[in-house]
Amino acid sequence: MKVLVINAGSSSLKYQFFESETGAVLAKGGAERIGLDDSLITHTRNGDEKVVLETDLPDHKEAMEQVLSLLTSPNYGVIQSMMEIDAVGHRVVHGGEKFSASALITPSVKAAIRVCFDLAPLHNPPNMTGIEACEAAMPGVPQVAVFDTAFHQSMPAAAYMYALPYEMYDEYRVRRYGFHGTSHRFVAQRCAELMDKPFDSLRIITCHLGNGSSIAAVDHGVCIDTSMGLTPLAGVCMGTRCGDIDPAIVTFLMQKEGLDHKGIDSLMNKKSGVLGVSGVSSDFRDLEEAANNGNKRARLALDMFVYHCKKYVGSYSAAMGGVDALVFTAGIGENNYLVRESIASGLGYMGLQLDEQKNHGVRGVEKDLSVDGSQAKIFVIPTNEELAIARETEIVVRSAMAR
Ligand code: ADP
Repeated sequence: MKVLVINAGSSSLKYQFFESETGAVLAKGGAERIGLDDSLITHTRNGDEKVVLETDLPDHKEAMEQVLSLLTSPNYGVIQSMMEIDAVGHRVVHGGEKFSASALITPSVKAAIRVCFDLAPLHNPPNMTGIEACEAAMPGVPQVAVFDTAFHQSMPAAAYMYALPYEMYDEYRVRRYGFHGTSHRFVAQRCAELMDKPFDSLRIITCHLGNGSSIAAVDHGVCIDTSMGLTPLAGVCMGTRCGDIDPAIVTFLMQKEGLDHKGIDSLMNKKSGVLGVSGVSSDFRDLEEAANNGNKRARLALDMFVYHCKKYVGSYSAAMGGVDALVFTAGIGENNYLVRESIASGLGYMGLQLDEQKNHGVRGVEKDLSVDGSQAKIFVIPTNEELAIARETEIVVRSAMAR
């Protein structure tokens, strides 16, 4: 099945076009600066050089139409006509409590995604814009929503509830949702394949460590806890997000710094994390360089990140009564062997023993990093959210056709 995967942001629309059975990427690219000056589209046909087209993109619908004409163009295209697109899969950040799985997009699914606008005001509205742009440009092509939150919907109430007045949950659905679910599921399933064991027989801790980082406990094939919360601000400290802090700090700083709700939100989301602590950068490559050159705050920021991750790994092992595998993925997890080494050090008591030689210098490839014969495994597994969305889309469309 030929599946177009769309990830729409407020001024961008990224795409990857897959042959979903083989996982082959036929083409990929993105429209940038939609609705702004100097908008452009980048497009790479498998095996070709990237092309960059400077073009007017007043809105997402126009961007989608231009992407489609590239995909079908004689020079850069990979299909003769739009009719060859079997389905479109959309990344949708928040599915609230309504979606524990991907869904064929219908008017009622769209209404449910709109209900979640309040929960993800920066993400769900542009995701919806992307859906509507595709509906307009490709009428009749089935569209599927794949939610970042869906995999985490299996968490028990004790893990997802906050100890606030229950009415806050009843009234506003304030609870833990978790994010990066497509990635956590993808790497956890792949981990089971690599171990040659049934997914539902394993206790796996997945560490998705990128600009935004989250950790999940996948117990016998089911997510039972994850570090992000109502929003992606919770959990370990991140590039620019503070992660878990004493909630009383919010009102304390609002008062001391004279901040309103937008000001404190921006402080915690954009000026905190390893950037805020180090004053250097949100990028771990810059932090390591600075730390190696003697910058103490950069070293502190790295130490904090590692410590937070280690604490989550320990707590999820406690929650699952042990662990069979620890998986690292995303920009930092896949590429930064020092961070992996620091997080995994001293976990031998849980059966997790990292082989430092196997781990040293490993970047962006799938690999078993554990000491031969160790009881539990440690893997690096590159994530591929787009491919996971393409596969999900195929499953949803095939099951809808079978009905
Ligand atoms: P996002 O959450 O925006 O998708 P990424 O998963 O790309 O972010 O992660 C970004 C982080 O990953 C940065 O801190 C960066 O240092 C690290 N990273 C990404 N690629 C590499 C690489 N090739 N080598 C080392 N670190 C990398």
